[in-house]
Amino acid sequence: YEQAKALTFPDYGEPKDVLRLHSHSISTPHSNLLTLKFLASPINPADINQIQGVYPSKPTFTTTLGSAEPLAVGGNEGVAEVIALGSGVKGLKKGDWVIQRAPGFGTWRTHAQTTEDGLLRIENTEGLTPVQVGTVSVNPCTAYRMLVDFVKLKPGDWFIQNGANSGVGRAAIQLAKLWGYKSINVVRKREEGMDALRTDLEGLGADVVVTDEEVMERGFGEKIKEITNGGRDEVKLGLNCVGGKLVNAMAKVLSPHAHMVTYGAMSKQPVTLPTPLLIFKNISFDGFWVSKWSDRNPEEKKRCVDKILNLTREGKFKDTPMAPIHWDATTKQDELVNAVQGTLEGYRSGKGIFVF
Ligand code: NDP
Repeated sequence: YEQAKALTFPDYGEPKDVLRLHSHSISTPHSNLLTLKFLASPINPADINQIQGVYPSKPTFTTTLGSAEPLAVGGNEGVAEVIALGSGVKGLKKGDWVIQRAPGFGTWRTHAQTTEDGLLRIENTEGLTPVQVGTVSVNPCTAYRMLVDFVKLKPGDWFIQNGANSGVGRAAIQLAKLWGYKSINVVRKREEGMDALRTDLEGLGADVVVTDEEVMERGFGEKIKEITNGGRDEVKLGLNCVGGKLVNAMAKVLSPHAHMVTYGAMSKQPVTLPTPLLIFKNISFDGFWVSKWSDRNPEEKKRCVDKILNLTREGKFKDTPMAPIHWDATTKQDELVNAVQGTLEGYRSGKGIFVF
């Protein structure tokens, strides 16, 4: 038997109101079952939206964890180690590290019992930390696909993105640098730490870092013209994490036929499209959802994960700043719940991640 704990919710609501630490036991696995011990599970913005009930992929509410009422386990991303397995499990062995193929697993838990079909084995874990492997499949893959799937960028081409200091944004900066693309990176203006943030992003390979206020000011178009060789170097792609009027100002500096890809809505403001951009510049507005992409492209997903992990191992891809929350047998419910509740606050110094 394993004594297990999971951060669960019986119903949708604010994390602080609905999350409960649930204890249960897991029996020795038989036939095609295996037992996982989690190593690291991040707290992503979408996890909060899922608990609030406003995210399109819904968790499974079940009584299989021995509770009276059906519970869902929070979290959609993470890395776990196989610690025991039934004789029918063929593709995995004890000690293997696995990540989830698709969201919805419920990764905020010390242990889980499952079958192997939903798991992706990490073939080479050498030189990698659980935090690196536990955060590879959502943010870096999102950045990767958005840089390659919408327009054909060639070395020297530009893209512009907001939320540039987010996990996705930092991944996009680094991949773009490796591939020779140039980035204009928009971050929210802050009273404190602006210089440090700029230096931080430039260290990852950001070519230009500007604040949202600068983008909204008159004259931003001229500034972009200056840095893009009088407008001759094209800005072919925009990545939108934030929404609101900022997106219009960003779209205005895109080259004709460029694409603006929306993947997040951190400001909760809609994107309203100025028609001249559609009619006269033929700008396309697209959306990207890594969950759907992963469902449709499981092989490509695996390749993406492997590529990022190789880059990480080679020291060419740096982790997002993290705020680890250590979770062991003595950790109190409040500590875990507070870490989740704080995730949607802005201006954070690191992404929350449960480390077991
Ligand atoms: P992080 O937690 O790493 O970063 C959050 C980002 O959001 C920071 O840049 C932060 O900027 C910004 N932010 C927070 N609050 C606001 C606000 N009120 N207005 C404007 N900006 C704000 O996030 P992730 O990289 O994990 O995710 C970023 C977004 O991308 C989320 O919306 C997430 O759901 C989405 N996402 C979508 C995917 C998809 O497939 N479509 C896949 C992965 C992520 P600051 O420091 O200034 O607060």
